[in-house]
Amino acid sequence: MSVLVLVEMEDPGQGEAGLSVVAEETLTFARGLPGEGVHAVLVGQVGQPGERVLAQCREQGVRTLFVSTDAQLERYAALAWARVVDAGLQVSGAAYLLGGGTPCGNEVLAHVAAIHDVPMAANVVHIVQLDPLEVERQVVGGAVLERIGLGGQLAVASVAGHAVAPAPSAEPTQPTVEQVAVELTPADLVAQVRRSEAREGGDTSALAGASVVVGVGRGVGGADRFAAAEALAERLGGSVGVSRVVTSLGWRPHHEQVGQTGSRISPDLYLACGISGAIQHWAGCSSSRTIIAVNTDEEAPMVTKARYAVIGDMHEVLPALLDELG
Ligand SMILES: Cc1cc2nc3c(=O)[nH]c(=O)nc-3n(C[C@H](O)[C@H](O)[C@H](O)COP(=O)(O)OP(=O)(O)OC[C@H]3O[C@@H](n4cnc5c(N)ncnc54)[C@H](O)[C@@H]3O)c2cc1C
Repeated sequence: MSVLVLVEMEDPGQGEAGLSVVAEETLTFARGLPGEGVHAVLVGQVGQPGERVLAQCREQGVRTLFVSTDAQLERYAALAWARVVDAGLQVSGAAYLLGGGTPCGNEVLAHVAAIHDVPMAANVVHIVQLDPLEVERQVVGGAVLERIGLGGQLAVASVAGHAVAPAPSAEPTQPTVEQVAVELTPADLVAQVRRSEAREGGDTSALAGASVVVGVGRGVGGADRFAAAEALAERLGGSVGVSRVVTSLGWRPHHEQVGQTGSRISPDLYLACGISGAIQHWAGCSSSRTIIAVNTDEEAPMVTKARYAVIGDMHEVLPALLDELG
């Protein structure tokens, strides 16, 4: 009995690519499950895993890293990727399958669960008990925690961003890299990313992977009033995210929207300025490690849910913050 974790790569940036922070969190979470250790499966990478990935696996106590270097799998195809994960399950004999609570993790794991006709728990934050396995997961965008049982031969769950902090294993390993070969049918590749284009003005994935997001809502007051938020995001090495009202009014493009119908973000810091904190917005930002609200209304839901709040006009607070940061 062991745990298999679907790991994802970080967004492409400078230098050698490594596993994402969410992957490291999920591997850390996996070590809380019983059994003979943790294995990982990495899909979509052509060529052997690089030294950085292997070092991260070593540090996380991964025993086997299953990879498929099939060129057909380089572009994301949820069902085809699920076939590889399933092959990793067969070889490892794992009784638990975990992945990050990301769009990819949730979709691929749901396919694997469907293949095995077992339930899947998305966005788990906590293991309540091990035998029989019961977990707590975020629902309604994190506004509600639900406890569910995951009994049976195979337990499938995605782990919500920041459910645990990534930590090295007390027992580092020398992971074995094992190729898994799968026979794909055309049906496995029907839904596949055919091409991707960089969005005008920068990296499409900047918001979802940002460690700092400066959120801006209707309280900003107009399309021409974003300068301070943009400057602060740049100063903190982060991205600007907005509410749906802001995109609906045409003040900012849709790819910056956070929420149920936008991006789900898990930054270390979410500075939510002039955002009321409606449940549909909260659905996209509740996994942030720390939320600071800046709002004129001390009873706004975002203020009551945030860890810290500044009650004031964002057009005074943000310039003051920028001055302070220098
Ligand atoms: C099906 C559906 C899906 C949706 N999906 C999303 C989604 O993905 N993302 C999303 O964001 N919303 C979504 N919504 C909309 C959501 O319900 C809210 O309407 C929206 O989030 C509100 O945006 P807001 O907080 O910017 O505006 P408001 O609710 O108008 O809040 C503005 C806030 O700014 C404060 N404020 C005003 N002036 C200042 C100032 N000078 N300084 C500081 N604070 C100030 C006010 O006190 C207020 O709290 C969805 C709705 C539906 C029905």
